[in-house]
Amino acid sequence: MPRIGSWIEPHPEGIYVRPADAWVDPSQPKARALVTHGHADHARGGHSAVLATPETLAIMECRYGPQPGGQAIAYGETIRVGEVDVSFVPAGHVLGSAQIVLEHKGEKVVVSGDYKRRADPTCPPFVPVPCDIFITEATFGLPVFRHPDTGSEIDRLLHRLHSDPERCVLVGAYALGKAQRIITELRGRGHEEPIYFHGAVERLCNLYEELGVPLGDLRPATGAPKDELRGKIVIAPPGALNDRWSRRLPDPVTAMASGWMRIRQRARQRNVELPLIISDHADWDELTTTIRELAPGEVWITHGREEALKHWCMTHQIKARELNLVGYEDEDD
Ligand SMILES: [Zn+2]
Repeated sequence: MPRIGSWIEPHPEGIYVRPADAWVDPSQPKARALVTHGHADHARGGHSAVLATPETLAIMECRYGPQPGGQAIAYGETIRVGEVDVSFVPAGHVLGSAQIVLEHKGEKVVVSGDYKRRADPTCPPFVPVPCDIFITEATFGLPVFRHPDTGSEIDRLLHRLHSDPERCVLVGAYALGKAQRIITELRGRGHEEPIYFHGAVERLCNLYEELGVPLGDLRPATGAPKDELRGKIVIAPPGALNDRWSRRLPDPVTAMASGWMRIRQRARQRNVELPLIISDHADWDELTTTIRELAPGEVWITHGREEALKHWCMTHQIKARELNLVGYEDEDD
């Protein structure tokens, strides 16, 4: 009797699904890739064939140009690839993000990709799929990482904005997912004012709107008079927080929305005055709650702090292993 999941081969450059002759989120160009979501460390360009959700394919086209080998698989649809039934299930991470469910000879393996469990108005919520093997991310796989309530972080941002109407608040947020989530959360808290953006987030904001996520009144910050930006929120990629571009803004309060803002030193490194702990990844409680809920035979752990989660699994009588894949960055949050 072979061990379970012997048909799934973790390699440093990705997870190879042998009976499908396909790779999940490979870091190198492959003949056939199954892609969980559009972040650059998961969705690389250059594969001959790409299977992904329609939204992820649209994001890849927006970033890399036409994807002639793209095949769109809607949530809930199942297709046969080689000898494997493959389906895509919402992961709640960013628009189009999916867990990939692989079934072969009576065994079910779920590759989570990046995921979170809390509500996100820009994408459908994570769907738990009981399975034999759950391959989970562990970006925030330490008990110190417990993300606060998103609404209270947004309220802190609005409070800061209103307390100093001569200044603007410059929010660093990743261009795919986080930027659009912050805007949508602000709208949900009743903030109807124009929100200004750095050029690097414009195309993805337009794409989100085309795909049915309304973002309200958005305007380019570049070229806007300084006085127009007073008392306003400006969204920019984290790399722009301290560069020349931000000098045009009226005395900006520098904020950053990231799970890493839990660590004060990271906030200081970026000169962040207003750290907002808003993450698109599962925190420690979400990771452990998910594993409890799925009750898989085995947990395989990728990119992140694998050791602590592996230890937690062992103490809860769940077999666990670390995969040590390379190329996954922890910076998309
Ligand atoms: Zn991601």
